[in-house]
Amino acid sequence: MTDGDPRAGVDAVVTHATRLAESALAGADQADFRTRWKAFTARGVWDEAPSDEAPSDEAPSDRPPGAARLGPVTRSVATIEGIGRAGTDAGLCYAMASQRFGIQFPLRSVLGDTETTESGDVLLCHALTEEGGGSDPLSMATRAERQEDGGYLLTGTKSFVTAAPVADTALVFARTAAERTPFALSAFLVDLSAPDIEQSAPFPKTALTEVPMGSLTFHGVRLAPGSMVGEEGSGLGLLTLTTAWERALLLSYALGPMRRVLDRTVEWCATREHFGRRMGASHVVAARVADMALALHRSRELVYRMAARLDAGERPRQLAADAALTKISVAEDYLMFSRQAAQLGGVRSFIEDSGLTADLTSPMAASVYAGPNDLLRITVARELGLPVEN
Ligand SMILES: Cc1cc2nc3c(=O)[nH]c(=O)nc-3n(C[C@H](O)[C@H](O)[C@H](O)COP(=O)(O)OP(=O)(O)OC[C@H]3O[C@@H](n4cnc5c(N)ncnc54)[C@H](O)[C@@H]3O)c2cc1C
Repeated sequence: MTDGDPRAGVDAVVTHATRLAESALAGADQADFRTRWKAFTARGVWDEAPSDEAPSDEAPSDRPPGAARLGPVTRSVATIEGIGRAGTDAGLCYAMASQRFGIQFPLRSVLGDTETTESGDVLLCHALTEEGGGSDPLSMATRAERQEDGGYLLTGTKSFVTAAPVADTALVFARTAAERTPFALSAFLVDLSAPDIEQSAPFPKTALTEVPMGSLTFHGVRLAPGSMVGEEGSGLGLLTLTTAWERALLLSYALGPMRRVLDRTVEWCATREHFGRRMGASHVVAARVADMALALHRSRELVYRMAARLDAGERPRQLAADAALTKISVAEDYLMFSRQAAQLGGVRSFIEDSGLTADLTSPMAASVYAGPNDLLRITVARELGLPVEN
């Protein structure tokens, strides 16, 4: 690997983000989600991603020259991977990847560089799903009615929204026309400290337990004319953009945690003794470990490939089919990977604080959010020419 090799740059950013995240975690390990988020942004972990500058506490010569030549999307993926490698819980990794890739990068193309699209100080959430409609956005009931001053009156409830109980601002999708047409939806940036908004208590969920999920209820909230993102009726178009980004890159959050699980599983298999030999001497055990390495390798290659294509200027909407394939593939590899780890950990996989505790629920959830894998398969097949609809 040479200095000009992009992999050297990726490794440098991963290592740097790991160091920053370790130091942020040292002060806030047991703190609640929002405090840990703030500790990460205060420590500069967030700023690492988009900046072309070397961080102030590190001499530029500490980094291979390749780091500066990485595009912002690749740097962000490497930062998220580094945060995960530091041992940051999967929930915080997920929330950071979700804000960066599912909200900020897509909004940049509409709003340009603003605090909302750049900073980690504003905690954002993506409010689309409702009790009555997850996979089918056009079934949503939340509505925004246009007012005489050009503003809107927002009414309805968004549910199952990551970070909703603690977020500062929500990207809210609402119906601005009654009919079921592609132009029925619009998107708004809503300051959640405004009156007549209820942020629920965290739902007691079983996946990604470290990040709270909840609902947002809007009791006739007055939105200023400037709150709309894009034009009235462009909500489904924006959603196509945010979901393309999410499908391409959200699962970058799993790369760091997967690496840590692989490392600890190798160590366990290499040292655990039974049948008069070390466990890793079994070909079946070795093959399971190799399958884990394969799943991580494939996932990493796919995610960084998507990042490189976005950095090269490919349009997210044109990448939508490949983004769907990437999302399905990484989600399913993550689950297979976690099953292998759980098998090899034996009983310790099911004991808290054993050092080998397995989480199968969070990887399974990856097959549901950002478009259920079954529905994405339909999209892929349709793109290939099959006459199949949702
Ligand atoms: C961890 C996590 C975080 C989330 N974060 C957010 C968030 O931040 N913001 C947000 O808005 N939402 C969020 N969600 C919600 C998520 O977007 C929805 O769960 C998703 O859109 C699916 O909707 P649903 O759960 O209502 O499933 P449903 O629409 O009820 O579908 C259930 C299942 O049925 C199958 N299915 C349904 N219709 C079809 C069909 N036509 N063809 C084939 N199969 C079908 C699929 O397997 C699907 O998984 C999150 C979910 C999870 C698990």
